[in-house]
Amino acid sequence: MDFKNKLTIDDIDIRGKHVFVRVDYNVPLDENGIIQDDRRIRATLPTLRKIINDGGLPIIASHLGRPKGKYVSGLSMEPVARRLEQLLGRPVTFLPDSSGEIVLRARKEAQTGDVILLENLRFHKEEERNDPDFAKQLAGYADLYINDAFGACHRAHASISAIQDYVEVAAAGYLLKKEMEMLGKLLVDPEKPFVAIIGGAKISSKIGIIEHLMDKTDKILIGGAMSYTFFKSLGIDVGDSLVEDDKLDVARHILEKAEAHKGIGGRIFLPIDAVVTDDISDKGVRKVVNYEEIPHNMGGVDIGPNTIERYKKEIKGCETIVINGPLGVFEIDQFSRGTREILTAIANHVENGGIGIIGGGDSAAAARKFGLADKMTHVSTGGGASLKLMEGKPLPGIEALTDK
Ligand code: ADP
Ligand code: MG
Repeated sequence: MDFKNKLTIDDIDIRGKHVFVRVDYNVPLDENGIIQDDRRIRATLPTLRKIINDGGLPIIASHLGRPKGKYVSGLSMEPVARRLEQLLGRPVTFLPDSSGEIVLRARKEAQTGDVILLENLRFHKEEERNDPDFAKQLAGYADLYINDAFGACHRAHASISAIQDYVEVAAAGYLLKKEMEMLGKLLVDPEKPFVAIIGGAKISSKIGIIEHLMDKTDKILIGGAMSYTFFKSLGIDVGDSLVEDDKLDVARHILEKAEAHKGIGGRIFLPIDAVVTDDISDKGVRKVVNYEEIPHNMGGVDIGPNTIERYKKEIKGCETIVINGPLGVFEIDQFSRGTREILTAIANHVENGGIGIIGGGDSAAAARKFGLADKMTHVSTGGGASLKLMEGKPLPGIEALTDK
């Protein structure tokens, strides 16, 4: 995918224009509809401020949750409108629908300086169906289209994909621009040496990334539960560790291709020791063993101290590090050390002028938990979208943007 050639908000003339802005305001709500975390709203403020300051009129739209094509009061965007109002410091007109007469009227009555937020796009089943007529309607509300919803760019939905067929100009907002610059560089021409650290729960969700990054990276360091599928594929007993038995062949194949053998040599590095427990809870007892000596009644939940040292050594001297997936069950204190230490090493790497990028929702959550997120070069805002991008697959929301 050609990221450099896509039109961005800095390339277009906004003055006097109605701008349809697709954002990702899929924020977590509690039972009472109170927003738990407004990071996604804050992340779009630079784009919205730019449009307003340049004399454009933003008509903002997003999805929220999974209402499956019908109105669900608990998934209304109204609380989001109120929060956006506070964050922007100006009134936001909330419209109780995302299409139809009501939008046309509001658009006509709106004046420069106004901000409009539409109701949840997914209240219309046409949104997720990428319906061309619905997309055409949405496009009709504006002169320009700006996509700032990186977290939704992997979905071929009407407001992400089909809408771009009906607008003259489709450009990336600042949030999407930064993702394209950061992840695009990583995939197209990374500063070498380039190391990827891949962890998380399931090997099945990371096979695509490992395969795609194998040729682009100098090394891949493996952690998380998927280590045990790799070990088992080599005939090593992994006790009660989480294993995907239907992925043993794929795992073995990857190791053969990488010429890795029990973590020694090749391009793929497996852990050399493990933290094991018989109870994945905050009461669980923590024990460190060699990777070949996992007791039959225990499972691996973190990389051990020797692996931490080894991995720190392996990332020394490299230029670019990307991490996708925590190295252990970081949510539980006594199993979080591997993830914390490796993230700290990446933060130090960035402090010393290197590039450190976090992709993956839980990895980002881990970085925030340990107070390290602000120390990274970039923390991707899209779990599924960055996963797909790192698998080398095109994202509908980016592909369709107007070329420069
Ligand atoms: P990301 O969202 O960063 O891509 P994943 O969704 O793939 O990461 O995986 C995150 C989850 O993996 C975390 O909830 C973590 O507890 C879990 N995990 C990591 N290591 C292990 C392990 N050894 N056993 C069980 N779960 C693990
Ligand atoms: Mg995840």
